[in-house]
Amino acid sequence: MLTAVEARRLVEQARSELIELTQALIKTPTPNPPGQEEQAAWILKSKYDAEGLKAELIPESRGRANIVTRLPGTGMAPSLLYDGHLDTVGPGDESAWTDPPYSGIIKDGRLWGRGASDMKAGVAAEAMAAILAYRAGIELAGDLIVASTCGEEMDNLGAHTLRNTGQLKGVGGIIIAEPSANELFIAEKGTLWVEITTFGRTSHGSAPHMGINAVEKMLDLLADLRYFRPSDDKHPLLGEGTASLNILNGGFKTNVVPDRCTAIFDIRTVPGRSHQDIVTALKTKLEQAHTADKDFRAELKVIKDLPSVSTPESDNLVRLAQTVSRELWNREAKVGGISGYTDAAVLTPGTNIPFLIFGPGEMATAHQSNEYVDIEKLTDATVFLLLLAATWGR
Ligand SMILES: [Zn+2]
Repeated sequence: MLTAVEARRLVEQARSELIELTQALIKTPTPNPPGQEEQAAWILKSKYDAEGLKAELIPESRGRANIVTRLPGTGMAPSLLYDGHLDTVGPGDESAWTDPPYSGIIKDGRLWGRGASDMKAGVAAEAMAAILAYRAGIELAGDLIVASTCGEEMDNLGAHTLRNTGQLKGVGGIIIAEPSANELFIAEKGTLWVEITTFGRTSHGSAPHMGINAVEKMLDLLADLRYFRPSDDKHPLLGEGTASLNILNGGFKTNVVPDRCTAIFDIRTVPGRSHQDIVTALKTKLEQAHTADKDFRAELKVIKDLPSVSTPESDNLVRLAQTVSRELWNREAKVGGISGYTDAAVLTPGTNIPFLIFGPGEMATAHQSNEYVDIEKLTDATVFLLLLAATWGR
C-alpha cells in the first residue's frame, strides 16, 4: 500500500507538472457568467488522454462542458468522487489587481490569479492525484472518479448534470476541493434566495392619491421584516442562520408613482427549520399585510434553494481524512463548517453520501482581487488526495 513518504515523493517528482497545470487553468478565463468552461475542460482532457486515462467530456451548452475521468478500482469498496468546479467569479475591478487577473504568475511562493484559490488549484490537485495514482499503478479499492464541473458560481449546472446522468451511482464518499486551506469542512449552510415584489398602480407623480405606490408598500413590509431571522436553530459548526436584504429595486421616473418594487433576500440557514417552513412564514407576513391594507399586493418567488448539508464527525470518511492528515502532518486537520454553499448541496441531499470539503485554496482570498494559492498548500493537498484515494476502502 502507498505510504505517506511514497505519496510525497510522487508529488514532489511531479511538482512542476502540477504547477503548470494549475497555471494553465488560471490562464484560461472562466468567469461566470458566462462560464465558458469548455476550454478548461479540454486542458484536463488532453492531460488525461496523454496519460492513457479515459475521460468523458459532458457538454452543457455552447462553450460549456464538464469533464469526468474514472480510475477503476478492484471493486472492494464504493467509488470515491473528487469534485471541483471550473468556473470562477469575474475579476471585478481589474485596476485593483497588482498583476493581470489571469496571469498565473508565481511570486513569493504563491500562484496568483482569478480562481487560484477558488478553485483551480483544487481542481488541479484532484486531477494530478488521479494521474499520479494511475501512473504509479496504485491499486485502488474503489473507483476514483474525478469530476470537474461547470457553473458552480451561479446555479451548480454541472453538479446537477452529474446527478442526473447517474455519475453518483456506487459513490460512497465525495471530496470537494473548495478552498479550506487543507483543513476539513464537514458542514455548510443552506441557501435560500427569496424575491418579493409589491404591486401598485401608476399615477402622475403630482397626484399620488390617484395611484398605489409599490415602493411605499414595500417599505411598510420591510419595516416588518427588518429583524427577520430564518430560525432560532444553532449548529455547533455553523452557528446561526442569517437573512440579508441585498437588492432593492423600485421606481423608474421621478414624476411617476411606481407600480412595482422588488426586494431580494439572501437567507442562509442551519439544520433545523425547513426552507419550506421559512417560506411559509414569509408568505404569512405578506397575507397579514394584505389583511391590514387591501391596497397591499405582493408576490413571493424562491429563486435559489439549496439545503444545509453536513457529514457526521464520526463518519468513516472524516476519520480516514484525519488518519491521512496525521500521517502527513503529524496532527489532525481542523474540522469546521462554512457559511457558503458548494456542489455538495446538489450532490448529497437524499443520498446519504458523506462529503468533505478539502482544498489548498484560502477562503479569505477567494472572490477577491489578487487571489492566490500557496504552492506548498497546493502540493500538500495533492499528496493528501493521492494518499486518501490509495487508503480509501482499506
Ligand atoms: Zn468555489
